[in-house]
Amino acid sequence: TYILAIESSCDDTAAAILKNNKVLSNIVARQAVHEEYGGVVPELASRAHQQNIVPVIDVALKKAGVNREELCAVAFTQGPGLMGSLLVGSSFAKSMAMALDVPLIAVNHMQAHILAHFIEEEGFDMPEFPFLAMTISGGHTQIVKVTDYFTMEVIGETTDDAVGEAFDKSAKIIGLPYPGGPLIDKYAQEGNPKAFPFTKPKVPGLNFSFSGLKTQILYFIQKKTEENPNFVAENLHDICASIQYTIINILMDKIKLAVKETGIKQVAIGGGVSANSGIRKTLKEAEKKYGWKTFIPKFEYTTDNAAMIGIVGYHKFLKHEFNDASVVSKARIEL
Ligand code: ATP
Ligand code: FE
Repeated sequence: TYILAIESSCDDTAAAILKNNKVLSNIVARQAVHEEYGGVVPELASRAHQQNIVPVIDVALKKAGVNREELCAVAFTQGPGLMGSLLVGSSFAKSMAMALDVPLIAVNHMQAHILAHFIEEEGFDMPEFPFLAMTISGGHTQIVKVTDYFTMEVIGETTDDAVGEAFDKSAKIIGLPYPGGPLIDKYAQEGNPKAFPFTKPKVPGLNFSFSGLKTQILYFIQKKTEENPNFVAENLHDICASIQYTIINILMDKIKLAVKETGIKQVAIGGGVSANSGIRKTLKEAEKKYGWKTFIPKFEYTTDNAAMIGIVGYHKFLKHEFNDASVVSKARIEL
């Protein structure tokens, strides 16, 4: 079974070809236009998707060595995401499925961040049901109990900012360009994580909050910069390490609690922030320390990609869960 998958929920135009649960090609066109605006500009994103989508799909097919006529289904991201961006991918997927006369499969982007663990990859194990998934991305922070491919229950989530936003907004405060998450990660590697102790928010149960931390960092940087205008430049590594350390601690506290409350010791992470080297390392340490089994996605399946849309498409294909052309894109959808 060859599946073409298209992902266009935010600012990356992506296409992938899967043969069953294996990825033959996984192409992402990053949109650089947003950098100078310090965040994603929706109108520019949909325009760039329109420009990128044909070449990206072409490259995906070529790289996979698959002809259009061999495709068995077209999967696309239905949501959540930016409406204008989603519409480019869905319109294209619909016309392609119709032209090729193959099934159309609508995919939930957040399910895809979790089910990316079911892509067959050498050196990567797949979780067994039930497992806990912590989705940490640009728009979401959730702890999900996964009992089957499509049976997922959110048992904790953020009450304000997403963890990716916490990284990006903190980065902005210290003058780093968008998206700042990967840069904080990079500078943190040579910094002292305990240089500047930030306090963790007190949020009951399995929920998260990140907006207080952002404000705390803002005031801290303002105060220190008043005392010494070069404070950020002189302490960049330590500041980044301290921010990252605090965020990781917040995430680890909650996942530990989730394991305790559910008795489930298999822990998977997914979403853009699961690319973070600190969280990857900390989770591996927790595996040894607490006897968990942890699942850390291959780097290319952490931030937005179409391979993860394809694996969901494949599992829906097996269940004959298809959509007709009347399926609508949704800026928000529940798991
Ligand atoms: P969602 O999946 O919730 O709809 P999204 O698709 O926009 O949101 P992703 O592409 O999954 O988000 O993740 C992007 C986020 O991941 C950004 O906030 C980015 O800063 C963050 N991120 C990427 N790499 C790293 C890293 N190494 N360390 C920290 N954060 C990172
Ligand atoms: Fe995403």
